[in-house]
Amino acid sequence: MATSNRGMNPLDTLRDRFDEVETVCPACGYDDDDGTWATETDGAEVRYEHDCPSCGKVTAHTISLGR
Ligand SMILES: [Zn+2]
Repeated sequence: MATSNRGMNPLDTLRDRFDEVETVCPACGYDDDDGTWATETDGAEVRYEHDCPSCGKVTAHTISLGR
């Protein structure tokens, strides 16, 4: 197809932004400084998940990709 994708993928941009968010567990307060957010998307929204290595609680955030 004639469509070309240049530059940053929007998901990469969102991931960069989210990497700056503190990964402090709301359940036990563990600060997973090296933690990363797993991302998945269905095209309409992006879901971020982070599981706490201390207590195992999964923190999830969903961001809508509204235009
Ligand atoms: Zn925790």
